[in-house]
Amino acid sequence: MGTILQLRSVSKTYREGRNEVPAVESVSLDLRRGELLLLMGPSGSGKTTLLSMMGCILRPTAGEIRIDGTVVDHLQEATLPDIRKKHFGFVFQSFNLFPSLTAAENIELLLRMKGHEKKTLRAEALRLLEKVGLSDRTDFYPADLSGGQKQRIAFARALVGDPPIILADEPTANLDSKRGREVLELLKRHAAEQNKAVAVVSHDPKAEAAADRVIFLEDGRIKE
Ligand code: ADP
Ligand code: MG
Repeated sequence: MGTILQLRSVSKTYREGRNEVPAVESVSLDLRRGELLLLMGPSGSGKTTLLSMMGCILRPTAGEIRIDGTVVDHLQEATLPDIRKKHFGFVFQSFNLFPSLTAAENIELLLRMKGHEKKTLRAEALRLLEKVGLSDRTDFYPADLSGGQKQRIAFARALVGDPPIILADEPTANLDSKRGREVLELLKRHAAEQNKAVAVVSHDPKAEAAADRVIFLEDGRIKE
């Protein structure tokens, strides 16, 4: 009932010329509403590949992904952008903010892309920045903000359109441990209070404190 995203025997093999690189092998997992699921594992263990498949950014070579019970048909590539827009908010290690746009404008841009009503773009951007505790930084440019603040803007942007699932790839990797903890706490509170599903990739053992559940990957497989 609480499951929103379901992976069944999902695999991804990259092709590099004549070589095949198995990055994820037969992973099954459920992501539930209200939880922060932490995906851990050493560098190269397949975390980013797995998260990209969960977010319908990358097509699996085998297996099945369901969102809210409906199978995602990865062969219907034209439908994937709409699926991403509707179901997912993404947060990346490198923030991916536009340097020439202010905090509010960075959020307004995605609001516009997601078809938000023009008249209320600004108000909605300010509302989301308030949620992440940045009401006093709305007109600042990324260069004038700290890493933690930038990542909170990126999180506010991921909340655009109120997606049921947030996926974050190493969101704390460029932050000191205090700011990293703050970002994880924000993600966890979002999951619990808004009943949203949050999956976070990290290789930082300190992230475990914020997780409801931890899955370890090793060589592309779940390690029990
Ligand atoms: P992690 O995020 O845990 O560091 P990745 O998912 O990035 O792991 O990578 C898993 C494996 O897949 C690694 O062996 C990596 O070299 C390989 N890999 C990742 N992306 C590609 C790609 N685009 N082409 C070929 N191999 C890749
Ligand atoms: Mg990675």
